[in-house]
Amino acid sequence: MLGSAERPLRVAVVGSGPSGFYATEALLKSGRTVQIDMYERLPVPYGLVRSGVAPDHPKLKQAILVYDKIARSPAFRLIGNVTIGRDLTVEELRGAYHAVMFTCGAEADRRLGIPGEDLPGSHTATEFVGWYNGHPDYRDLSFDLSQEVAVIIGQGNVAADVCRILAKTVDELKHTDIAEHALEALSRSRIREIHVIGRRGPAQAKFTNKELRELGELADAAAVIDPADLVLNPESEAELADKNNDVSAKNVEIFRGFAVPSGSTKRRRVHFHFFKSPVELRGRERLASIVLEKNRLEGPPFNQSARGTGEKMELQCGLLFRSIGYKGRPIPGLVFDERKGILPNDNGRLRDGNGVIPGLYCAGWIKRGPTGIIGTNRADSVATVNSLLADLEQLDDTGDKQGADALYPLLEKRGVKYIGFQDWLKIDAAEINRGRPKGKPREKFTRIAEMLEALQS
Ligand code: NAP
Repeated sequence: MLGSAERPLRVAVVGSGPSGFYATEALLKSGRTVQIDMYERLPVPYGLVRSGVAPDHPKLKQAILVYDKIARSPAFRLIGNVTIGRDLTVEELRGAYHAVMFTCGAEADRRLGIPGEDLPGSHTATEFVGWYNGHPDYRDLSFDLSQEVAVIIGQGNVAADVCRILAKTVDELKHTDIAEHALEALSRSRIREIHVIGRRGPAQAKFTNKELRELGELADAAAVIDPADLVLNPESEAELADKNNDVSAKNVEIFRGFAVPSGSTKRRRVHFHFFKSPVELRGRERLASIVLEKNRLEGPPFNQSARGTGEKMELQCGLLFRSIGYKGRPIPGLVFDERKGILPNDNGRLRDGNGVIPGLYCAGWIKRGPTGIIGTNRADSVATVNSLLADLEQLDDTGDKQGADALYPLLEKRGVKYIGFQDWLKIDAAEINRGRPKGKPREKFTRIAEMLEALQS
């Protein structure tokens, strides 16, 4: 039977972030005999834990210790520097495995859909986060930090990360694993005012308490709020009174602390704005200002949406980050739900117009959308693995499923320089060595060529 010692279940996992590792862990613990090959498009694993989690949040990166342990299982192989849909097709994977699971996250951004959105000076949070975290895709971007006023659209934890990195001093960042090029550019930053814009109210902000509190504890930046923005409507008061909504109640308490004038002499200020939607970005050749429309909330508690009042204001700004949520990217050979930015699925089983596609699965943000913290992905991946195990008898077991052994020759023929987990450990050690003299946990390689070169030395 499939999943026995005689006939191991061969699974390809596509994407080496949290959901991929939690799915691997669940498969390894399933009691079946499994062989898992994890494909990753970069030569370095761990997805958003490496290139999304902010450098000044090292505790969150400790999830890597768990993933490292999982990766050392003899039933696991990492195949890095291989892009599925380019270097190998989905059909080729299906031929070599009993099941293929996509855990490739949500790498693109939602759009505001307003005039001027793409003016120079207006960026996605993804670009900035990838840049300061040394992701090769964003390595060569530049951000005009000679500006004095920056705007961040959105009030979730990614906005909080972007805000902290803009607001912190070099001393607060220099012993983190922030990419060298970013630290250097930030050391020359002239940003003084950072405006964090929410379309709804303080009770609906998506920050978690710790992340919000941190914005009031920065060495050289003071948090500021107009007390008038903290007057809540009865529906918002009802939301805060709900005992399952502790996070929002605490957030509002923290905001109230920011609304007290502190006579701060700090160099930078972080202004929180509420009930305002961006309607236009203006500027001739580059961003010069943003037009915001005042909103009122409409709808019952927990379902209040922002409605424009027609009242507008213009705020001068030279740099802007859109931090309004991520969406997945389509994968050649698979149906994609453009509106939701996910792979259409039933409990992790991929489906197309004709129903479930046997042997194809997904987990994490590409399955449910970009919500939750790192740990949220564990239960989500376990659920998909349970779907897969329930399907075991229906999986295609024809032919000789050899996993990566059948695909390595194809990759070689196509000139793809794939790497394994031992190779990653060499890159890892080299990065740690590079960081040591600077008192940093690591100095990341930020180009794919550099990562591969590190393997030669
Ligand atoms: P998020 O939490 O969904 O926040 C998105 C923000 O953008 C919300 O304030 C949302 O407002 C706003 N927004 C959406 N569309 C908008 C529009 N058209 N105009 C104006 N504002 C708009 O997303 P995220 O910050 O990208 O975070 C993604 C996930 O990663 C979250 O679950 C987050 O907690 C997690 N994360 C966690 C950490 C951490 O634990 N430290 C760090 C980073 C990210 P509405 O509420 O009105 O929609």
